[in-house]
Amino acid sequence: MIEAKEIVKRYSGREVLSNISLNVEKGEFVSLIGPNGAGKTTLIRIILALIKPEKGKVEILGKDPFNDKSVFRHLGYVQELPNLPPFLTGREVLLLSAKIKGAKKDEVDELLELVGMREFANRQIAKYSKGMIQRIAIAEALLGNPEVLVLDEPNIGIDPLFSLKVREMFDKLKRNGTSILMTSHELEDVKKLSDRVYMIYKGKIVFEGDVEEMVKKFLGIQVVIEGEELEKISNFVSSFNYVKKVFKEGNKLIVSMTEDRREELLRNLVEAGFRIRAFYMDLNLEEAYSRAISSV
Ligand code: ATP
Repeated sequence: MIEAKEIVKRYSGREVLSNISLNVEKGEFVSLIGPNGAGKTTLIRIILALIKPEKGKVEILGKDPFNDKSVFRHLGYVQELPNLPPFLTGREVLLLSAKIKGAKKDEVDELLELVGMREFANRQIAKYSKGMIQRIAIAEALLGNPEVLVLDEPNIGIDPLFSLKVREMFDKLKRNGTSILMTSHELEDVKKLSDRVYMIYKGKIVFEGDVEEMVKKFLGIQVVIEGEELEKISNFVSSFNYVKKVFKEGNKLIVSMTEDRREELLRNLVEAGFRIRAFYMDLNLEEAYSRAISSV
């Protein structure tokens, strides 16, 4: 659905993307993460044929977006800090876009409803709050039921309640087969939505895989145990040679292991008669992210 191959981009001789390859399959949600200035937006703009790379190839839905603009009829894009026409109202922006994309007019009202902007639809963009602009930008991207969605920090400025709704919306779209590429600093969204993550740092891919793999790679295996008598559990698990470290965090026990022996550990705990309420892998993406950066 989206394929970028060996992309190189330089600004004034300085390489900001070094041989980056990325792909997004049908119905896949892929996140692009990395610190400010890593190269995420530059890569997105190259994928959308908005800037030309020095080297490399891009395909969207099997076509080269630099030569075949028809692909954009099947693509929705939320750009970083959307720049919508200030004198138009939210509804007018969507109606205009619907016309360009060949989408049905009815969709405009449905989408205004979906993003909670029906009430403000006739207000000028200039009089919108940041989050309201973002909501209209998301609605605009969804017009025409696109096969591919490219989202450059779609959650900037939106409140936690709507953020939750956006997450549900993207999840539903993905399940219906939409391919989604998102950049975000909201690691909770990345964790909940992504099938795969690419981490970029200084123009290079430093990790590619799913969230669990990323946490395993940079943090190792950490398991959270919730249950009765944590002190006794702590002593018990410490006796296994594959258990590296055990510590208490509030009413939870965090167990870090030298190798993935989760099933065995849980079986041993249950067989020993401990009452375990929860046993799960600690997917601390924030910590894995910061370790990834300090390790390169
Ligand atoms: P953020 O998380 O802050 O949005 P990003 O990962 O999207 O960052 P980019 O905007 O892609 O980062 O920028 C990558 C690098 O390219 C940065 O060093 C930036 O200064 C540089 N850069 C971006 N656009 C230009 C430009 N038009 N001219 C020169 N340098 C640029």
